[in-house]
Amino acid sequence: MKTPGNAPPDFPSANPRRRFLATVAALGAAFALPAAADTAPLSETDPTAQALGYKADGSQVDAAKFPKHSAQQQCANCNFYQGTAATGPCQLFPGKSVSAKGWCSAYAAKA
Ligand code: SF4
Repeated sequence: MKTPGNAPPDFPSANPRRRFLATVAALGAAFALPAAADTAPLSETDPTAQALGYKADGSQVDAAKFPKHSAQQQCANCNFYQGTAATGPCQLFPGKSVSAKGWCSAYAAKA
């Protein structure tokens, strides 16, 4: 295939169609990756999750270790929870989703 000017055949800007497809692919990756990353569930064995005593099921919180925890405290009503469903993002765990019924020791009631 002949390319315009002196541009080599594989140079992206040499072919408007290729340039368009490369732009679409780059935009797709830019918007798709964060959404996909947000859906990765936070593991209770994640080092930060362990340090904060995160449990996906708040009823499993070790009461002896976290005596200030109460059954009413859940990710769903925590100030750091950004979800609207059964799972959602938490500001403390970027790129992960936490359970709405979960809990960790960084819990802060929504204002
Ligand atoms: S900071 Fe709040 S929303 Fe995030 S894991 Fe802890 S309790 Fe859940």
